[in-house]
Amino acid sequence: MRVLILGGSTESSELSRLLADNSRFDTTLSLAGRTLKPRAQPVRTRTGGFGGADGLAAWLVQESIEAVIDATHPYADQISFNAVTACGRLRLPLATILRPAWQPQPGDNWLTVASAEAAADAPGSQPRRVFLSLGRLELGAFASAPQHHYVARSIEPPDVALPPDISLILDRGPFDEQAETALLTREKIDMIVSKNSGGAATYPKITATRKLGIPVVMIARPLKVHGHAVEHAADAVKWLEQQLAHRATPGSARGV
Ligand code: NAP
Repeated sequence: MRVLILGGSTESSELSRLLADNSRFDTTLSLAGRTLKPRAQPVRTRTGGFGGADGLAAWLVQESIEAVIDATHPYADQISFNAVTACGRLRLPLATILRPAWQPQPGDNWLTVASAEAAADAPGSQPRRVFLSLGRLELGAFASAPQHHYVARSIEPPDVALPPDISLILDRGPFDEQAETALLTREKIDMIVSKNSGGAATYPKITATRKLGIPVVMIARPLKVHGHAVEHAADAVKWLEQQLAHRATPGSARGV
């Protein structure tokens, strides 16, 4: 069965590993190309946008794809919309890995905002020391609040205009709580800005803020439309096995 994974997340890497040695599936992983040097993956990989839902649909037909797994990040809502649209049109089976959001625990002090721009307003007019744990493309929003000192951590160097008083840490998770606590303490951070990414890899920064009594400006998740919902990469493999078992004859899967 020819499978497309829409990737760019921990789960898509895990799913690629699980499918790499499974001869029943011929898998292609698609990356948007946001990370300039992504980790090598054990399945065929293509990079770059498809050109909207129409471009994705055309690519799915051209590559004779029979099932799609949307394993994109919880904040990647456009590609998920395109996947639902294209797969719906072609009547292709689509499953989406939905990573549960973090829920505030006793001791957490979260202010939830709608966007990176709203997060930039949240610390207010008095200068503060703010830790930004965001993608490199979102850091530009904080140029509008130059009164704060920022410590920003992202995987790759940002190529957007930044606020003037910022120090950059280039690093990729997972991180541990002890190191996160040490970082926030050493940098005298009094507020952090985060996405509600969910999962374990970047959660230690949240437990560190709870321990230190630091408020978190949490950027809310967008609405992500989805196909058949699964939680983990292993569930997606089970779903693929089911699709294989119930596969219609070629042609009827496409409604032609
Ligand atoms: P997005 O807003 O949903 O997508 C914007 C456009 O990027 C899509 O319309 C599509 O272009 C292209 N695209 C996105 N994911 C793609 C994929 N896996 N393969 C091919 N093209 C893709 O997503 P985004 O926020 O730009 O995120 C891009 C990628 O980074 C995603 O794969 C996501 O998993 C990963 N990521 C995102 C975040 C985040 O916070 N947004 C965090 C970590 C990782 P066309 O319309 O031209 O096809």
